[in-house]
Amino acid sequence: MTEEPGADQPDDLMERVVNLCKRRGFIFPSAEIYGGFRSTYDYGPLGALLLRNVKDAWWRAMVQRRDDVVGLDAAILSAPKIWEASGHLSNFTDPLVDCRSCHERWRADKIEGTCPNCGSTDLTEARAFNLMFKTFAGPVEEDATVAYLRPETAQGMFVNFVNVLQTTRKKPPFGIAQVGKSFRNEITPQNFVFRTREFEQMEMEFFVPPADAPKWFEYWLDERFRWYLDLGIPADKLRLRHHDADELSHYSAATADVEFLFPWGWDELEGIANRTDFDLKAHSAASGEKLEYFDQASGERYVPYVIEPAAGATRTMMAFLLAAYDEDEVGGEKRTVLHLDPRLAPYQVAVLPLSKNETLVPLSRQVLGQLQPICMCDFDVTQSIGKRYRRQDEVGTPFCVTVDFESLEDGAVTVRERDTTEQVRVPIETLAAEIGGRLRR
Ligand code: ATP
Repeated sequence: MTEEPGADQPDDLMERVVNLCKRRGFIFPSAEIYGGFRSTYDYGPLGALLLRNVKDAWWRAMVQRRDDVVGLDAAILSAPKIWEASGHLSNFTDPLVDCRSCHERWRADKIEGTCPNCGSTDLTEARAFNLMFKTFAGPVEEDATVAYLRPETAQGMFVNFVNVLQTTRKKPPFGIAQVGKSFRNEITPQNFVFRTREFEQMEMEFFVPPADAPKWFEYWLDERFRWYLDLGIPADKLRLRHHDADELSHYSAATADVEFLFPWGWDELEGIANRTDFDLKAHSAASGEKLEYFDQASGERYVPYVIEPAAGATRTMMAFLLAAYDEDEVGGEKRTVLHLDPRLAPYQVAVLPLSKNETLVPLSRQVLGQLQPICMCDFDVTQSIGKRYRRQDEVGTPFCVTVDFESLEDGAVTVRERDTTEQVRVPIETLAAEIGGRLRR
């Protein structure tokens, strides 16, 4: 009845997903009533749930299921000294060119010498444009109060390295993980939430003895690649791309990107880098604090190397939506369906009383009350049951639980599965255990 998920996705997939996001409350253009605001977006009721589930899935894999990674939530407003030491003040730039004909500005490395707006090749020389957002902390706007919005979460982990060592008694190999907002004054934000000026990252710095860095680099490439597959990105839409030597950042000994096949081609979801001891040494030199590890057993003192898997939460959420989007036919009727993994779907269950009839509502609410402690539920009483199934399919809800008149007699409900549309009768008594079991996989 249903085809392989996403087997023949439409040519205008991007447009359809963007429309779905707006129509169903995943993502809204920010400040829409004022005409929008410079490629910023707000995550609506369903988008907030999906984004949270992406971040939770990452946190479970990177922190909860391990005993060698701990969490951190560092400040977004940060001291210029951090960015001076990390190299961001001098190096975190993109090459900016102006078109002399239409005066649009572009990132030189993305346009191959031709203005995408007017087609002119009369461009200025490229100049370095720093991507950091600068602001002032306090009521006086002067040099002494300059602060930056962090352009990555990583530096929070490096400057807290000793704090974490001392408070957790971890020792290399161990990691510090963080999920949070980062800000980059991108020259050309584009492709919906793929590249925005405000976005969310999921980053982990894994500190290892220097000699073990190549081994751990390979380990994290493998782990991170499998994370996307496990959550439903098809293998033919995912690849690893190793950076050539001339592409490496100033701090990196090796980098590889996890790439997804977006409608416009392969593009980055996550970068995994061997950052060597660059950051700890740089912060040590600039702050005068020793950022190193002393191994009491061997009497050895060293500055660890760092392997960093750095992913984008908002960008990854978009990849999950694109990969999950499908249009198929059920019982001769077309439907739009998101084949999202149940761990990512905004709602895991929708509870649907067959009719608005008063007698069904109390039992339906009782069923809802049993399921709410174990997962996110929607409760929908409006329109025909067929329409309500379609609505849930369209936002990726894996299970619909229908309460009908027979339920009043036999104490059972119908559970309908999204992908197969198969329906089974389940006693209300065992419903929570049944759904819980299916969600855990
Ligand atoms: P790009 O080459 O696309 O500008 P990058 O290589 O500079 O990205 P990193 O600094 O490695 O990106 O950041 C780690 C991750 O953070 C990226 O893989 C991406 O998922 C996410 N990310 C970076 N910049 C943005 C942005 N402007 N909008 C959304 N996500 C971003």
